[in-house]
Amino acid sequence: MSTHRVVVIGSGFGGLFGTQALRRRKDVEITLIASTTHHLFQPLLYQVATGILSEGEIAPSTREVLARQRNATVLLGTVTGVDLEARTVTSQVLGRERVTPYDSLLVAAGAGQSWFGNDEFARHAPGMKSIDDALELRGRIFGAFEIAELARTPAEQERALTFVVVGAGPTGVEMAGQIAELANRTLRNDFRRIDPTKARIILLDAVDQVLPAFGDRLGEAARARLNRMGVDVRLGTTVTDVDATGITVTEPDGSSTRVEALTKVWAAGVQASPLGRQIAEQSGVEVDRAGRIKVLPDLTVPGHPEIYVVGDMMSLDDLPGVAQVAIQGARFAARQITRRLDGKETEPRFEYFDKGSMATISRFSAVASIGRLRFSGFFAWVLWLAIHLVYIIGFKHRVTTLLHWAVSFLGRGRAQRVATQQQVFGRRAMDSLTADQAPSIPSDPADGEVTGVAELEDRRRTSA
Ligand SMILES: Cc1cc2nc3c(=O)[nH]c(=O)nc-3n(C[C@H](O)[C@H](O)[C@H](O)COP(=O)(O)OP(=O)(O)OC[C@H]3O[C@@H](n4cnc5c(N)ncnc54)[C@H](O)[C@@H]3O)c2cc1C
Repeated sequence: MSTHRVVVIGSGFGGLFGTQALRRRKDVEITLIASTTHHLFQPLLYQVATGILSEGEIAPSTREVLARQRNATVLLGTVTGVDLEARTVTSQVLGRERVTPYDSLLVAAGAGQSWFGNDEFARHAPGMKSIDDALELRGRIFGAFEIAELARTPAEQERALTFVVVGAGPTGVEMAGQIAELANRTLRNDFRRIDPTKARIILLDAVDQVLPAFGDRLGEAARARLNRMGVDVRLGTTVTDVDATGITVTEPDGSSTRVEALTKVWAAGVQASPLGRQIAEQSGVEVDRAGRIKVLPDLTVPGHPEIYVVGDMMSLDDLPGVAQVAIQGARFAARQITRRLDGKETEPRFEYFDKGSMATISRFSAVASIGRLRFSGFFAWVLWLAIHLVYIIGFKHRVTTLLHWAVSFLGRGRAQRVATQQQVFGRRAMDSLTADQAPSIPSDPADGEVTGVAELEDRRRTSA
């Protein structure tokens, strides 16, 4: 039986659920290529950043998740090129290159953070898109309290105890809420020279509403709750500069203000993977402002019925960049691939079923928008808890996550307060590596001039 080669780019919601949707097809051979070895549950990154959960709980190994799916092969690699003519995907890892041919391609490489053209802000205001980001932020947040304890002047202490979160969407609200709980509950008795409850947490956004996607009423409820927790919410405020010791903003009245703050968190703006632009250029298709490919209603790239683009990389009907859009889109794409293989007509359009959205503000408090229902408070929080548990992959992760939630939400503790120097300073060190210092897979001289995994495999095959 000839097999149909499906290449999946990315192991996030789109990549993983698309691969799993093809698990029953013996006539399909899937190669999932992703730049990390894990599937990341991004909605809980803020809990890793604030010491509630460990990184392993929200990032199970993709290889382990797919171990029993015999038609799926997992490859580590960053896709650097897609050749639409030759139907190949080129990926690289540690200096090694590999070319993988495909019959169908599922592109689910997601989106990165956008600093709205000010990438230099990233150094002092990291975003929150990856485990690296969350662990670096954990180190910076807990480290700020340590620096405050060592401060020599009141000004230095105040700067260390000021936290600015940029972006009042779900991630920003969750981060601001968690830093407030950390200061007011977890750390309140841990220091001798400082009072952690005196920490200032500022949440700012250029728009004039908290959680705009949730509507006025829930936005106002979230803002009121944050205010009660001591978070200073500043709306209509635009960031104009970020440096090591603070942030400069333009206020709603046009005046400029400088806020002295050691810790800044960037939770605003997304930019689709650059692969989107590359595919668009080759196929003559447009991308939107966030670099997302304008796909056809059946999620394919115009002129390329064999290429599906899903999740945060696609632009269709103003669908939001949320997990359900990626999951449902990937399942739709997998269904069309199987229909085509079965000689059936494919479905002309992807219909998204909106299951609603939620955001937590603090323990026991969340907002939820489901269909026409809008509610906030404890019930919304319990629902949030249950739904997130269902989507966490793997039984063991659910058990430990529940335990850690009990530690943090019923008690005052945080089970994951470890932050290493590598987590905080490693990225800066990597940025300064020269080309010849970049990590690579060491070559055994006995292997001769072998440069890629594919070549190595060819050699093995020939010598076998
Ligand atoms: C902090 C945060 C909180 C969020 N909270 C929520 C929430 O509460 N509810 C909700 O519904 N949504 C939430 N989202 C959005 C949701 O996580 C995304 O919409 C969803 O992950 C998109 O899925 P995806 O498959 O398109 O991309 P992703 O899940 O981002 O997966 C992309 C994958 O592609 C890989 N990749 C990227 N580039 C390459 C490359 N060049 N080569 C190979 N692999 C590559 C990545 O390693 C990753 O495996 C949140 C996002 C973030 C960042």
